[in-house]
Amino acid sequence: MNIQHKTSLSALTTMGLGGDAAQLVEVYSPDDVRQAVAYARQHKLPWYVLGGGSNTLARDDGFDGLVILNKIPGINVIDQTKQYTTFTVGAGELWDAFVAQTVDRNLSGIECLSAIPGTVGAAPVQNIGAYGQEVASAIAYVDAYDTKNDTFVRLQNAECEFSYRHSIFRGREQGRYIITAVTMRLRAVLPQPPFYKAIETYLREHSIANPSVRQLRDAVIAIRANKLPDPRATPNTGSFFKNAIVSREIYERIVADYPNVPHYDLPDGNVKIPTGWLIEQSGLKGALYRGMRVYDKNALVLVNESAKSYDDLAAARQHIINTVQTKFGITIQQEPLEIYTKKLF
Ligand SMILES: Cc1cc2nc3c(=O)[nH]c(=O)nc-3n(C[C@H](O)[C@H](O)[C@H](O)COP(=O)(O)OP(=O)(O)OC[C@H]3O[C@@H](n4cnc5c(N)ncnc54)[C@H](O)[C@@H]3O)c2cc1C
Repeated sequence: MNIQHKTSLSALTTMGLGGDAAQLVEVYSPDDVRQAVAYARQHKLPWYVLGGGSNTLARDDGFDGLVILNKIPGINVIDQTKQYTTFTVGAGELWDAFVAQTVDRNLSGIECLSAIPGTVGAAPVQNIGAYGQEVASAIAYVDAYDTKNDTFVRLQNAECEFSYRHSIFRGREQGRYIITAVTMRLRAVLPQPPFYKAIETYLREHSIANPSVRQLRDAVIAIRANKLPDPRATPNTGSFFKNAIVSREIYERIVADYPNVPHYDLPDGNVKIPTGWLIEQSGLKGALYRGMRVYDKNALVLVNESAKSYDDLAAARQHIINTVQTKFGITIQQEPLEIYTKKLF
């Protein structure tokens, strides 16, 4: 195994902050993963799995352990019928490169998840979602290394306990599984309306009546380009906060003061309120605080304009959370995960 020492985490995470990882190893196969965990155990090191670092924050004191950088390749069709094509994809493949391949084959199911940065292996972790689609609805099963029992396991969709931006992998079993491959089933049918509002608007403006999978991908890419900064040019992690899910009672209280509050009724009776709207109404859109800017085109995004440290980010985050809390009585929650220093398994 080729262990690298003192690697900058700011270069491996799209927010561009944080100190060094004491050790780092790139893994290219499931067996590399097994060996990396065995090495960490032998040297009594905590480990942390990283893909593209687009949903991860690193602290200023870095990580005194082993970063396992997932590079496992491979996109394979394992089953094909008239209705469906099923792919098994290596966890280190780039998510959007995979989406592009499915769109090239005219397959539907993840086209609205176009242009999300990062790797395939991270997609199930927070059940990535955008424009009305979630990866959970395409996933058949996930292959992983179970670091609790030192075995390879296959977790069926239901076992992953997917919900809004959540799964077992960032929930009650956080840190236990290292995902090596994801198997997804996509449909050979035209995408069906209704589409997300922003997509409907785009289709109307471009006089597209029955969009193909490619036209939907193009729409999503165009819409995103206007709303999300490119992390290669402007360090960020996309949505910095999760959308707020509140009880109907809290929603009724807010709607009394703000009759036009955007919201989505959820099947369980709760109501989803866009956190970008809450931040904007709190007067923070475009605000700069300790080098962190609330993005002026999308208040859900925090951009690292000139922050010097993770501490700057943490101060800006607290300022935003407190301001929204004071105005609406809602405690908003951070979406990106942080490299944890404790040994979990
Ligand atoms: C501009 C921008 C736009 C974005 N838009 C969206 C969006 O529309 N929707 C959305 O849901 N997200 C979005 N994101 C967030 C992010 O891109 C996704 O969460 C993505 O899946 C992260 O992939 P990654 O490889 O970069 O993950 P990383 O940041 O490397 O890892 C994220 C988490 O997953 C864990 N992990 C990674 N790989 C594995 C593995 N193989 N096994 C086990 N655990 C693993 C890590 O330990 C970490 O906790 C956006 C981010 C940016 C910067």
